[in-house]
Amino acid sequence: MNETVKYLLDEQHLPRFWYNINADLPQPLDQILHPGTQQPITADELEVIFPRAVIEQEVSTEREIEIPQPVREVLRQWRPSPLYRARRLEKALNTPAKIFYKYEGVSPAGSHKANTAIAQAFYNKAEGVKRITTETGAGQWGSSLALAGSMFGLEILVYMVKVSFNQKPYRRAFMETFGAQCIASPSDTTASGRAILAEHPDSSGSLGIAISEAVELAAQRDDTKYALGSVLNHVLLHQTVIGLEAQKQMEMADAYPDMVIGCTGGGSNFAGIAFPYIGEQMRGGHTIQSIAVEPSACPTLTKGRFAYDFGDTAHLTPLCKMYTLGSTFVPPGFHAGGLRYHGMAPQISHLAALGYIDPRSYNQLECFAAGIQFAKAEGIIPAPEANHAVRAVIDEAEKCRESGESKTILFNLSGHGHFDMQAYTDYLGGKLKDLDYAENEVAMALAGLPAIG
Ligand SMILES: *Cc1c(COP(=O)(O)O)cnc(C)c1O
Repeated sequence: MNETVKYLLDEQHLPRFWYNINADLPQPLDQILHPGTQQPITADELEVIFPRAVIEQEVSTEREIEIPQPVREVLRQWRPSPLYRARRLEKALNTPAKIFYKYEGVSPAGSHKANTAIAQAFYNKAEGVKRITTETGAGQWGSSLALAGSMFGLEILVYMVKVSFNQKPYRRAFMETFGAQCIASPSDTTASGRAILAEHPDSSGSLGIAISEAVELAAQRDDTKYALGSVLNHVLLHQTVIGLEAQKQMEMADAYPDMVIGCTGGGSNFAGIAFPYIGEQMRGGHTIQSIAVEPSACPTLTKGRFAYDFGDTAHLTPLCKMYTLGSTFVPPGFHAGGLRYHGMAPQISHLAALGYIDPRSYNQLECFAAGIQFAKAEGIIPAPEANHAVRAVIDEAEKCRESGESKTILFNLSGHGHFDMQAYTDYLGGKLKDLDYAENEVAMALAGLPAIG
């Protein structure tokens, strides 16, 4: 008995345009500020680290932005990605809810991050850039950019958070296979890295520190730019292919979601699936519940402050208004490395402040339990990050069982967990613990927020 229900689109339905939610916001986003002057940053200042095309997308208010043909040519290798109805999970939960999921683990790097890596590599190449620097936490972003760099003929230099560098040798091998260079951060190759090491020789690193190292190098050389795998408007824009495809696939299924769910680290995969729907809602369409799920140990949206903050530890990046736990906060080493970031995408922060997004948080043990329940029913092992979304989905489906309501739930399965099996081994061996939210450390980090406005 095969109950797999799969909604596939053929290549010609690969989106031709990205959806830019800036066009539909009821109030515009707050401006990005220069880290030194704290005045609105100019395109020329941003061009030190980003290509021009990406900066234009960052501030654009055009609703549809064309996807360049060479980018579509690469994306079509795995896109449109499949949408599944999780019938076996529904049955296992004995729920009247209808559960659909978009599966982004089909990309060659195993997650949604390849969607923006390809686009960013294309724009850098088109503007004559030779080398891109970046950071990576769990390794998914570094893997995606390494893949994109090899496709477009760019050198890729990745600062990998030291704790992951040591824990996940296969992620490093993946990047190196594509010719990328991978350095454990903090390192002695940059002033920011050396400053951290002088103070904390045993530092296990953080995304904030790795970003400082990568930005520092990019700012030094004309042939080198920096790329970020989440948070910024252009990254979220590139991820909207997920939701745009899902809208067509849900139509094929003759369904419209009552709720859309995604996990949030910097916010890009959640934005990818939710923004096209939230946009419809803002233009007068269906009202949906959009649930952003984060780890309790790094609760940016649920416990952070909505304020201007730096994106990195050394304060080299521009200032964005966002929910933040403070740029000096180093989240504990839980196993969803991709969710260990102190800030949240400004667009998601703005929409949450306006009431369009419901944030919620879970601890890691309940998330692994949900991921395993999902894997047993659906046959796919989710990335530990995606387990947060799965936890919320199962909770909502169980609520439907209690109430008898048949809600339609759509979620983004942002990646597979094949490089994260050590985390599953630890969970199954009873070695994982729930980590508390470090209230004092966050209070200290928030006390150091820049005074602006
Ligand atoms: C990086 C990552 C995340 C978190 O980043 P977002 O920008 O919030 O999407 C979630 N899931 C997977 C599989 C990732 O690789």
